[in-house]
Amino acid sequence: VRKPRVVVLGAGYGGLITVTRLQKQIGVDEAEITLVNKNDYHYETTWLHEASAGTLHHDRARYQIKDIIDNNRVKFVKDTVVSIDKEAKKVVLENGEVEYDYLVISLGAHPETFGIQGLKEFAFGITSIDSARQLREHIEYQFATYNMEAEKKDERLTIVVGGAGFTGIEFLGELGNRVPELCKEYDIDFKKVRIICVEAAPTALPGFDPELVDYAVNHLQKKGVEFRIGTAIKECIEGGIIVAKDDQMETIKAETVVWAAGVRGNSVVEEAGFENMRGRVKVDGYLRAPGHEDVFIIGDCALIINEEINRPYPPTAQIAMQQGEVCAKNLAVAIRERGEMATFTPDIKGSVASLGENDAVGVVFGKKLVGTKASFMKKVIDNRALLMVGGPSLVLKKGKFNLL
Ligand code: FAD
Repeated sequence: VRKPRVVVLGAGYGGLITVTRLQKQIGVDEAEITLVNKNDYHYETTWLHEASAGTLHHDRARYQIKDIIDNNRVKFVKDTVVSIDKEAKKVVLENGEVEYDYLVISLGAHPETFGIQGLKEFAFGITSIDSARQLREHIEYQFATYNMEAEKKDERLTIVVGGAGFTGIEFLGELGNRVPELCKEYDIDFKKVRIICVEAAPTALPGFDPELVDYAVNHLQKKGVEFRIGTAIKECIEGGIIVAKDDQMETIKAETVVWAAGVRGNSVVEEAGFENMRGRVKVDGYLRAPGHEDVFIIGDCALIINEEINRPYPPTAQIAMQQGEVCAKNLAVAIRERGEMATFTPDIKGSVASLGENDAVGVVFGKKLVGTKASFMKKVIDNRALLMVGGPSLVLKKGKFNLL
């Protein structure tokens, strides 16, 4: 008899945990495991704000997938998923096809632009190593060009960040460190630089404790960030944005606009015809797509409701990794056709938003933390993710040891 074929799409947090756990839990004779990922490397999505600002080299935020998986057990295919045909049970890739008996979709998120015109064309995102490299270079180019022009364009030194959520705030924190360095390097007066954060919601960091929000906003303001809270981006245009507050429209000239205000599930999920909300599928307790017992969906492509408040959990690496563990267990049960599947319940240990070097805010095990303590915890969390995926050797290679 043919071995069941397990195909895992995406080698992010969810996908890599699934594969590294499954390769240990089942024997070579029990199943064929294939992992498909766009690049031959994994990147730490949660570190991309640093690579994008240029405070951490992008190579520090990625590692080779083949160094992490058991290559005797798992076949790695470097390719891009184009579509999923769930009836024919196959995945179409840019350069071929793979058939599956069990599928895991862990393709992460795409930016949610809420239909705001011009964002796709003119704004940068914080989404991948490619986007991070481009954004870092773009910002540096603006600073490098400023003094070269006879007629100085101050908009080259204006950076607008759309969104004061987790990603926006963490990116602003890095800019707070990076921009003074750029000013020094390119002989630019810091007073000429504007860093503007535009947020439509009535507060920065929605969902965070108000005391922590105040701390974060004050800290960033001290580093020169202007906040426009309760202000919506109406349109992104070449060389700027149009914002509105209480019917007052304003155009802000800026050569750099970064959209960090929301994510949706990977478009492949939507296009495959799964019932979804913004590209995220409300999976069953075992992490399977409703009506498709052979398809598991995890990470940012999955929607899990927090019953206490009857709202979806925000998509996080923390949840993606926990789902990877449960997904691997459940795949083993499905492959063997015996045992009982585990149900997934998120175990939220907390969350910490960094504010640049040596500062952060967050809640860990129910305790509020700010400053160096929070920053220390952030690095511990970052190192723990490495440990979970690749063990101590990966921590030694890629870990953050400048703990204080
Ligand atoms: P990912 O880890 O993003 O992986 C998806 C993988 O799929 C990638 O390797 C990608 O290359 C691949 N892929 C995508 N499309 C295709 C395709 N078509 N074909 C082939 N491969 C493809 N969460 C936290 O818990 N804590 C934090 O502090 C935190 N900070 C964050 C900071 C930033 C700047 C950002 C952007 C996010 C942060 N998050 C944080 C959220 C977290 O990064 C995501 O929730 C998490 O990465 C989701 O994991 P995933 O496995 O679903 O997807």
